[in-house]
Amino acid sequence: MLLTNLLKARRTRTMNNTFYGKLIFELSKEGRKGYSLPENKLAEYKLADLPDTLKRQEAPCLPEVDEMTVVRHYTNMSNNNFGVDTGFYPLGSCTMKYNPKINEQMCNLPEFTHLHPLQDEENVQGALAVYYNLQKSLSELSGLSEFTLNPYAGAHGELTGLMVMRSYHLANGNPNRVKVIIPDSAHGTNPASAAVCGLEVVVVKSRPDGTVDVEDLKPLLDENIAGMMMTNPNTLGIFEHNIAEITKLVHEAGGLMYYDGANLNPMLGKCRPGDLGFDIMHINLHKTFSTPHGGGGPGSGPVGVREGLEKFLPNPRVTREEISDGIYWYHMEDSEDSLGSISGFLGNFGVIMRAYTYILTLGKDEIKNVGPLAVLNANYVKESLKDYYELPLDGVCKHEFVFDGLKDKSTGVTTLDVAKRLLDYGFHAPTIYFPLLFHEAMMIEPPENESKETLDEFIEVMKKIAIEAKENPELVKTAPHNTPVRRLDDTKAALKQIVTYRELLSVDEL
Ligand SMILES: *Cc1c(COP(=O)(O)O)cnc(C)c1O
Repeated sequence: MLLTNLLKARRTRTMNNTFYGKLIFELSKEGRKGYSLPENKLAEYKLADLPDTLKRQEAPCLPEVDEMTVVRHYTNMSNNNFGVDTGFYPLGSCTMKYNPKINEQMCNLPEFTHLHPLQDEENVQGALAVYYNLQKSLSELSGLSEFTLNPYAGAHGELTGLMVMRSYHLANGNPNRVKVIIPDSAHGTNPASAAVCGLEVVVVKSRPDGTVDVEDLKPLLDENIAGMMMTNPNTLGIFEHNIAEITKLVHEAGGLMYYDGANLNPMLGKCRPGDLGFDIMHINLHKTFSTPHGGGGPGSGPVGVREGLEKFLPNPRVTREEISDGIYWYHMEDSEDSLGSISGFLGNFGVIMRAYTYILTLGKDEIKNVGPLAVLNANYVKESLKDYYELPLDGVCKHEFVFDGLKDKSTGVTTLDVAKRLLDYGFHAPTIYFPLLFHEAMMIEPPENESKETLDEFIEVMKKIAIEAKENPELVKTAPHNTPVRRLDDTKAALKQIVTYRELLSVDEL
């Protein structure tokens, strides 16, 4: 019953969409208008005296449409998209959590949106206070001494953090410390950031249980080690229980410990990277702290450091001075030892505002439930499905877990097929074919704010697909059947992007 309803809902949405497939140019009718602009008063004041040579001689090639057509066109296009506002999105390693609408209200306050980055310190005190307070909140949640909110993304944070690591070794007269140890289960951005930073990547192996192999690590620790990057719980959703020993070994070898905190979700309220011995970390505000993301943005990857490393953080830094009892003044300051500037101004303010609102909305007590609930949800889904899907690493997971495809692979149905079939039932696919440790990896992360009902629907659909894969494999192999577009060539879509109408007209097959 539930499944038929879901299928029906999905079909109705696409079939009723009369505008689907049409381009805005195809809806154009000569002479139709969708705007009424006020008279140009600027000419009167001689403010708009453009010389004729600069004026357009021919009318621009724009679609001529009425307002309703434009609104329906874009609204219908947006309905063809999948997002956290439309359905469950168990994309592992991405923490696709709900973005509370109050976040949008707060970052749309005109007092913030009308600010200009070149305004003087004295008339942006409110924005600087938000920036400063978020730095402090992140320090408290992570156990690190100071944060910069300047980096624009997780990978950008990694690069910034590694630059702190490099600056530290250079300041200590150790230019040869250029090797960074990274586990084979790490997110791809880790080795990429190290390479961009000019450092050398050394891979440490995982043990069969998915954690870092300490015996494989020991011989790698020499006088050229800059540090080690770790994700904990790791990309397989497993807590690295040897973390104290690993931290001790790397520190003894003179290296620094870097924590990839893109997904801090399972740790919130339970465990702090600073207390585990990490020296530098980044956090993805656009994952753990509820900013919606996907399709490349917007993001923010604050970097935190332990005491003693603050001076290397990028410029400018936001500091606070008590000018009288309980009254503060906020400064933008540059430090001489800083690694320099890594972004324009102070980073992505909209994302910072959303994260700050999210933290204040939950408050000190409620935020402690985030981690435990995310872990509970992940384990609930895992346990409910492990008879149908191959679970290579059994045991309690943290916020996410990995299946290695269907348990019964005899009909040749792959992880990709299952992911496509999920779309037919109105669910976004999990992360697939990552991490690379398993051939048919399917990485599932149900964040804390999903209800038990939603998780039960997802579980029912996943079981149903496993049964379909056995009884009617062709149905799954040819999925999706109900989506506006079928299987696309992802690689071609990324490499040969069509970004204008004219380009589209010249494409023969789509
Ligand atoms: C998402 C993610 C990153 C990269 O973050 P971006 O904002 O996409 O650059 C790094 N590490 C892990 C573990 C992640 O999940």
